[in-house]
Amino acid sequence: MAKHIFVIGGVLSSLGKGIASSSVGLLMKKMGYKVVMQKFDPYLNVDPGTMSPFQHGEVFVTDDGAETDLDLGHYERFIGIPLNKNSNSTSGQVYDTVLKRERRGDYLGKTVKVIPHVTNEIKKLIYNMAKDNDIVITEIGGTVGDIESLPFLEAVRQFRLEVGIKNSLFIFLTYVPYLKAAGELKTKPTQHATTKLREIGIQPDILLCRSEKPFNDEIRSKIAMFTNVQKSRVINAVDVPTIYEVPKVLMQANIHEKICEHFSLTQNSIDFSDWDNIIDNIKNPGKEVTIAVCGKYVKHQDAYKSVGAALIHAAAHYRLKLNMKWVDSEKTISTENITKKLANVDGILIPGGFGVRGIEGKIAIAKYARENGIPYFGICLGMHIAVIELARNVCGLENAYSSEFDESCEHPVIDLMDDQRYLEKLGGTMRLGAYPCVLKESSLGYKIYGEKKISERHRHRYEFNNKYRNKIEKNGMKISGISPDDLLVEVIEIPDHPFFIGVQFHPEFKSRPDETHPIFREFVKKAAEMRK
Ligand code: GLN
Repeated sequence: MAKHIFVIGGVLSSLGKGIASSSVGLLMKKMGYKVVMQKFDPYLNVDPGTMSPFQHGEVFVTDDGAETDLDLGHYERFIGIPLNKNSNSTSGQVYDTVLKRERRGDYLGKTVKVIPHVTNEIKKLIYNMAKDNDIVITEIGGTVGDIESLPFLEAVRQFRLEVGIKNSLFIFLTYVPYLKAAGELKTKPTQHATTKLREIGIQPDILLCRSEKPFNDEIRSKIAMFTNVQKSRVINAVDVPTIYEVPKVLMQANIHEKICEHFSLTQNSIDFSDWDNIIDNIKNPGKEVTIAVCGKYVKHQDAYKSVGAALIHAAAHYRLKLNMKWVDSEKTISTENITKKLANVDGILIPGGFGVRGIEGKIAIAKYARENGIPYFGICLGMHIAVIELARNVCGLENAYSSEFDESCEHPVIDLMDDQRYLEKLGGTMRLGAYPCVLKESSLGYKIYGEKKISERHRHRYEFNNKYRNKIEKNGMKISGISPDDLLVEVIEIPDHPFFIGVQFHPEFKSRPDETHPIFREFVKKAAEMRK
């Protein structure tokens, strides 16, 4: 039978529950266990796809086209296993299922309630993950004390009752703040948060206490006594310079030993050398490289989580010190401003995005990159921008635009395909998930990937308008990647430029610290080589 680990958060949000869960996942995987992970999000949206990145951060896309919470990105990057739509469920999704059942008459005669109908549905989602896996890690979004997460917590409480202590383990992530004025670490928030959790019937088995400074034995004893958790299972997750070091911190604190002991599993040895190398490369880099990421969500860097991660992986691969420069495309429009802002930049990346705000700034930035031979990497919207820019400034199509920004523009070089034109609903209807692409042999794309047939994840509605293929190709932009049916342009590049590539897909979703994505790798390498 699969063993279930539940990760719950207390005290405050942003403690890194996703990273903690992923780190535990990595350690279990490294001991040879088959691990799967899932996240429960307590909000009522059916998925995060319709939420603004300003609110929710990045929407992570799986191969099967699910629009999911960004924590799934951490899971995939740490455990190195592609997840699917089963790995992220929201309250909205659960209620949707229950209400559809009610309308169908599945509960005829009964009053439909949170307990047991909603909680049963949640438990079903957990049981479903167990098939063919040794370890199921379930992270519960939100913080103990939130009204929204209560049905999930109640469901996992019941779940333990059903499968028993030997098959379920609760990890509670809390915070132990350092109070400067008092000069000490304070345990009260952890005590209170644990009390809150115990009030709803969950006694944590392991406490993971985040803190800025390491705590001593006295504090550990105090926390253990007040939370009713064995002292040896109170683990101090002290802040580290890079998230990729968290698994190591937990391993050194023997969390894997505690988990194996709890589940009566064999504690196999862990070879951590590959991750040690990555950590070492991140912490002790050599030459510098500066990459500008230009977008409109730059103040909310969570919106570019996977792009940032992929750049870090690529830099670590070459032991480079990565300076990420976040450039607000709404503010950077004039040539003078751009020249000033991008003067010491070695590479320019325009990531995905939606809506017209900041578009002119991005077009001007793409022009600057093209004209000055600065390595350019456009992702999804970043590809659209590159096409619009070339159409306007090289092809002479002054009013070239995307119909996303002006439905009736004169030259919609980026446009909707018919299947996207008359939609009844916006949720879950973009081109989503993995699609194949064929690369032309004599292209930068092919050189980068080293193979002709690739598959990458998508999340967009608008496409390169095929009516303009000839004109664009005649003016120096090569269409180097196309869908197998030749209908959808997937990759564009400018051969007469040191490194200029735009892709319709989101390669950032598939980059991993130990398996860096080839486009990010080559882009960062080229940028570093060309550094003045
Ligand atoms: N807004 C564009 C579209 O919908 C690009 C989307 C993206 O960058 N992910 O096609």
